[in-house]
Amino acid sequence: MALENIQYDAIMREYDRRQSQNRRRLEEHREHAYRQVPQLKEIQDAIASSSAQRIRSRLKGDCSESSSAYEKKLQILSKERNRLLHENGFPPDYLDMPCECPLCRDTGYISRNKKCACFQKMAADILYQQSGLKEILEKENFELFSFSFYSDRIRDDNTGKTPLEHAQFAVEKSQEFIRQFGNAAHNLFIYGDTGVGKTFLSHCIACEILKKAYSVLYFPSYDLFDLLAKKTFSKESSSEGALEYILNCDLLILDDLGTELTNSFVSSQLFLIVNERMLRERSTIISTNKDLETFSEIYSTRTFSRIIQNYVFINLIGKDIRRDIRTRKIIQEDKRL
Ligand SMILES: [Zn+2]
Repeated sequence: MALENIQYDAIMREYDRRQSQNRRRLEEHREHAYRQVPQLKEIQDAIASSSAQRIRSRLKGDCSESSSAYEKKLQILSKERNRLLHENGFPPDYLDMPCECPLCRDTGYISRNKKCACFQKMAADILYQQSGLKEILEKENFELFSFSFYSDRIRDDNTGKTPLEHAQFAVEKSQEFIRQFGNAAHNLFIYGDTGVGKTFLSHCIACEILKKAYSVLYFPSYDLFDLLAKKTFSKESSSEGALEYILNCDLLILDDLGTELTNSFVSSQLFLIVNERMLRERSTIISTNKDLETFSEIYSTRTFSRIIQNYVFINLIGKDIRRDIRTRKIIQEDKRL
């Protein structure tokens, strides 16, 4: 998982906040319980003092009688405290330090080097917010992917396969990509006409990769090259660091390549991204509505040869799904009238 320092710091600050809140809550519990049952304070103080004595005795290497005497004393005191808590209607852990995560006690770590599951969850949430996909992914994910938009009646002249078979292959390869993510860098090249589900499929994949707490960056190609042009030609400070994140995030999705204004700048930037991410062993998904021949002509053969060698090709075919959805809606509304 590639968390930047700034993201890591934000997570650790959240743990600090939780720990201070826990300390405040414990203080409130103590005040409340001691006011109602003053004897509890005496017992709690005695427990603290016996625990300290036991630790001192252990540090001295004293494992004889006095150590086990402290042990026994502590057991009696705890029993008495639990009885008083119970009799006065308090939960048994009312005087223990509260915490949101009992696994790591709100430290983020289970052991020195092992992060807790709640840390991973927080990292995933941050990365999800920053992916630029938050709203989209609520509507576009594998749960909502439907094969019903792909025909099993017509066959493609080139491949001899139906749109449905193409879609099934696409989903199978996408699932494989998701399963293997993190073990080695894999890349997908999704191509096909407008409206056949390329963007939807890339969103489905993004959703699953984000759930695994990897960093995902999604860019419609027009926005990406626009950002890079600003960085190169106007040296905008807001885009500082952006290129580094583009080259280094765990998964970069470059959507709808071919819709931007293509020129030598765009072509050279695409080569830089494709090549650099391969060297850094980072995964990339490219989608385009250009056919392979046109793609190679627009973006240079050196970029395309890198893609051929390192990407899995997915070809989606069929009718324009967006138009199909609109038609279905019209028919449904028509039936209601
Ligand atoms: Zn935890």
